[in-house]
Amino acid sequence: MIPVMRPYLGPEEAAAAAEAVASGWVAQGPRVAQFEREFAAYIGAADGVAVSSCTTGLHLVLHVLGVGPGDEVVVPSYSFIATANAVRYTGATPVFADVEEATGNLTAATVEPVLTARTRAVMVVHQGGMPADVPSLRALCEPRGIQIVEDAACAAGSTFGGAPVGAGALLAAWSYHPRKLLTTGEGGMVTTDSPEWAVRLRRLREHGMTVSAADRHAAGGSVIEEYAEVGFNYRLTDVQAAIGLVQLRKMGEMIARRRDLAARYQQALSGVDGLVLAADPDYGTTNYQSFWVLLPDRFPGSRNQVLAALAERGVSARRGIMASHLEQAYAGHPHVPLPVTERLTARTLILPLYHELTEAEQDTVVTALSDVLAGAGVR
Ligand SMILES: *Cc1c(COP(=O)(O)O)cnc(C)c1O
Repeated sequence: MIPVMRPYLGPEEAAAAAEAVASGWVAQGPRVAQFEREFAAYIGAADGVAVSSCTTGLHLVLHVLGVGPGDEVVVPSYSFIATANAVRYTGATPVFADVEEATGNLTAATVEPVLTARTRAVMVVHQGGMPADVPSLRALCEPRGIQIVEDAACAAGSTFGGAPVGAGALLAAWSYHPRKLLTTGEGGMVTTDSPEWAVRLRRLREHGMTVSAADRHAAGGSVIEEYAEVGFNYRLTDVQAAIGLVQLRKMGEMIARRRDLAARYQQALSGVDGLVLAADPDYGTTNYQSFWVLLPDRFPGSRNQVLAALAERGVSARRGIMASHLEQAYAGHPHVPLPVTERLTARTLILPLYHELTEAEQDTVVTALSDVLAGAGVR
């Protein structure tokens, strides 16, 4: 079976993790601090604050903005459900906006109709690594005093206007789950250009402590910390950071390989009538964390039938991005009509794409998909 995704991990990551264990310091410590500096530099942010996941990072981002009960935060329903859930953790109300078909992302045109006097923030997602047009959302929102925060879970190494996604972001949250390019098992980061927010984020992720455990240790144990506000335990460990530092050095190679494989898919499938393939928007480049295809309207079958037929041929594809508003957790949650979201979530699938996918395996995927579509008269 060809899997949809496989993390690119090797003996270097294993050695780095073993070294962290042997050092005796396995919780948040010097390796986390180094990983924060290097990751922030990589995506062009002033500061990085490592956290236990992107989900906890998103929660912290909303918390430092003071988002709470009575507030509204605009999010795409067309996203992993953690995007909307992070808003719920604060007691605020997630307000679903539709996305554009080409990128699967929010745009000024889809967000504008759902803004109200209670909108405090818009959480824009770079879906599957596809960069969103953040400047046009800022132009819409900032005159109204609405903050833009970025769910950049999938977007490390994607670009907008020649700069890395996340460069210049007010607050962006990143994921190191194995489904993303750079993995630490679980883990995440919040990046920001604001030194004040960085200090507060650092405190909040560690129980609200004024002096971190690592700094107290370095100072010889004579420093007594204080707790000025209620914080959380959202820390990353040094074992995870050690793996992340190795992964970070592979990012250039990982992105180049994915983009080559994506170009091969585009080449091989471009002739299938009506099939729409993930592609760079005109303003940037995607890291192709997810390579999705939108089934032709003429194809009479369901997406799930295609997934089943591919599985029979040894190809493990996946449904496309989920729509949070269709899940039981959001049953009865009011929302505007979301026609593009519903079409994309029903009619897209994600094809296998990962660093060690061979060209022969990729050809198997192409042949399998082409055969399934041709079987229904779509070629
Ligand atoms: C993966 C993902 C998340 C959650 O990331 P975790 O690190 O697993 O918490 C949030 N948002 C989006 C868009 C994602 O793809």
